[in-house]
Amino acid sequence: MTIKLNKIIVIDIEATCWEKNPPPDQESEIIEIGICIVDVALAKPIEKESILVRPERSQISKFCTELTTLTQSEVDQGITFSEACLKLRKKYESLQQVWASWGEYDKNMFEKQCLSRGVKYPFGIRHINVKTLFALVHALPKEVGMANALKLLDIPLEGTHHRGADDAWNISKILAKLLLQSRTISNPVKQL
Ligand code: AMP
Ligand code: MG
Repeated sequence: MTIKLNKIIVIDIEATCWEKNPPPDQESEIIEIGICIVDVALAKPIEKESILVRPERSQISKFCTELTTLTQSEVDQGITFSEACLKLRKKYESLQQVWASWGEYDKNMFEKQCLSRGVKYPFGIRHINVKTLFALVHALPKEVGMANALKLLDIPLEGTHHRGADDAWNISKILAKLLLQSRTISNPVKQL
């Protein structure tokens, strides 16, 4: 399959969570898929969307609502995980595009949930871990969280932290900045 390089799909998921371990009969599940498209040539985020996903094996705890603002009645209006993966494939052509997220958490959650539900994994193998890339580009001694990375770049955190679409948008701004910083005018690569 030919990989398209014109856009990067930045993904940030929110999942059901608890202060400590899940209750014995529940497991952490994806409840929001935040998507933001980065236009590579422009090095800019251009659009974002939030897909709410109805959990099937867990409920929204008070702790989860406090962290994410998401309530049980909101996610009850969401689509199924399988429908959400289909939407990623059809609307965003997620199999053909390069995709990115902050760390490995989002990728691991998708892999785990696709496996346990028998849903086709919606992404290709071209994944960028922006958290690691950011630390490497800036020669940091260790990886940092998204909010700290924004502070280091003097970029304001827009929207609500721990909401998927807003997190995806903010990660996209970091990634866009890394792209721009890499394109030095003094030493451009030759176009093939
Ligand atoms: P984030 O993208 O940072 O909003 O985190 C994604 C998901 O990780 C959240 O929806 C939670 O399921 C989980 N998570 C993040 N921070 C915490 C925390 N402090 N305690 C428990 N779970 C968390
Ligand atoms: Mg998030």
